[in-house]
Amino acid sequence: MRVFVIRQRDRTDFGDRTDMQFSSPSLRRVDAGGLCSGCGACALAAPEKIKMHLTRSGYLRPVQSAQLADGEEAAIRSACPGLSLSLSSDGRTDSVLWGPYVSMKTGYAVSDHVRQQGSSGGGITAVAIHLLKTGQVDAIIQTGADSAIPNANAAVVSTTVDEVVRAAGSRYAPSAPLAGLGPLLDGDRTYAFVGKPCDAAALRAMARTDPRIDAKIPWILSFFCAGVPSLRGSDRVIEALGSTPADTAAFRYRGNGWPGRATATAHDGTERSMTYHDSWGNILSRHLQHRCKVCADGTGNFADLVCADAWECDEDGYPLFEEADGISLFVARTAKGAALLAEAEAADSVKLREFDVSTLASMQPGQTKRRRALFARMLALRLTLKPVPSYRGLSVTAAARQNDLRSNLVNFLGMVRRSLKTRLSGRNFE
Ligand SMILES: Cc1cc2nc3c(=O)[nH]c(=O)nc-3n(C[C@H](O)[C@H](O)[C@H](O)COP(=O)(O)OP(=O)(O)OC[C@H]3O[C@@H](n4cnc5c(N)ncnc54)[C@H](O)[C@@H]3O)c2cc1C
Ligand code: SF4
Ligand code: SF4
Repeated sequence: MRVFVIRQRDRTDFGDRTDMQFSSPSLRRVDAGGLCSGCGACALAAPEKIKMHLTRSGYLRPVQSAQLADGEEAAIRSACPGLSLSLSSDGRTDSVLWGPYVSMKTGYAVSDHVRQQGSSGGGITAVAIHLLKTGQVDAIIQTGADSAIPNANAAVVSTTVDEVVRAAGSRYAPSAPLAGLGPLLDGDRTYAFVGKPCDAAALRAMARTDPRIDAKIPWILSFFCAGVPSLRGSDRVIEALGSTPADTAAFRYRGNGWPGRATATAHDGTERSMTYHDSWGNILSRHLQHRCKVCADGTGNFADLVCADAWECDEDGYPLFEEADGISLFVARTAKGAALLAEAEAADSVKLREFDVSTLASMQPGQTKRRRALFARMLALRLTLKPVPSYRGLSVTAAARQNDLRSNLVNFLGMVRRSLKTRLSGRNFE
């Protein structure tokens, strides 16, 4: 069966965002702070008036074409992760760095093929296949390669095991999976949604006022997220491999091993690849959007179940091995998510092991450093009169107290410098 691709963006490359005008006060504030994560929730709230476009800088951003109705404006105000996130632990174990959770385990997909194709242990893919095979959902909403631009992303709706596996693997480029959900919410089928933590947060927030979401999307799966690089990041990876985006027929960021190599396949079938350390560490991580630098939810607090890389790593977060059999960390955020994981284990879809949560900070140094630096970065932005998201229930000050004074100061001064530089250049954060 053909994978149905949800339209999430217009293909027009309309140029830099400084030219853009928003009559929506919410979108204006997000734009002024460079706070858009590119989730597409605003386009879902007002599909006829807001479309996601790929900017010249390589990010997915909204463009508004007509005045919003009060209800549309209110829906964006309460769902947009660039404006706010509000979390309640509701009696779950609540960790300052890792948020509320019900259980944490490590494990991997029992199917060797799924484990190999997945980014880490194929955990998300294995659980998604389990949901599909047991008839708990009709399809999986996930993110795969864009057929026209191989290093860009498209939201896909997978209804077969092969399709779910085809969309396995992390894709370090912008995705706006919420933008095209409208028709799915009006249809008869049920779905599991896989997306970035900010996508999951926005979807959860929209579900508070739109009953179709809980009815049609009973499962939200996510992954730890260090940030989304611009599409220009992977253009640079392709160039560093000695090719060009135009010569590239297919592009894989990771997977097919652990961590898996970034691999560009040319139209003549030639494959060129580089290590995760070289692709993410030397290129992609230098193209992250601004919102990700002040993200309080890189670990999927609003999802039912979240996966991450459960590797032993150096202090910068790179694995201490070249390639290995993948292992995922599984964080069940809700009782429902924990029950699903137990069910997938009982059905022999995943193998699980106990996990010592006290080792997570050394396993995820990037997430740890960002959470601890967040207060200092946001203070710098406030003092330089830049809008910041409002975070409730995300332990921002408690995390800062875990940081030493020097790190807080370095992060504060670094963000002041970035903010003033941006202001002086007359440009905005991106
Ligand atoms: C931008 C980004 C940043 C990440 N940062 C971290 C990090 O800091 N720490 C860490 O441990 N892991 C991070 N990961 C996730 C990690 O690489 C693995 O995806 C995670 O361990 C899950 O592995 P898995 O084998 O269980 O997932 P898989 O079985 O490979 O499934 C991955 C799922 O994610 C979906 N997906 C892939 N890319 C995107 C995208 N851009 N937007 C929406 N959905 C997508 C796929 O469609 C698939 O359904 C990041 C991934 C991305 C895309
Ligand atoms: S973060 Fe999401 S909801 Fe907010 S402006 Fe960007 S795309 Fe729209
Ligand atoms: S780092 Fe945060 S804001 Fe950025 S893409 Fe990931 S979850 Fe969204």
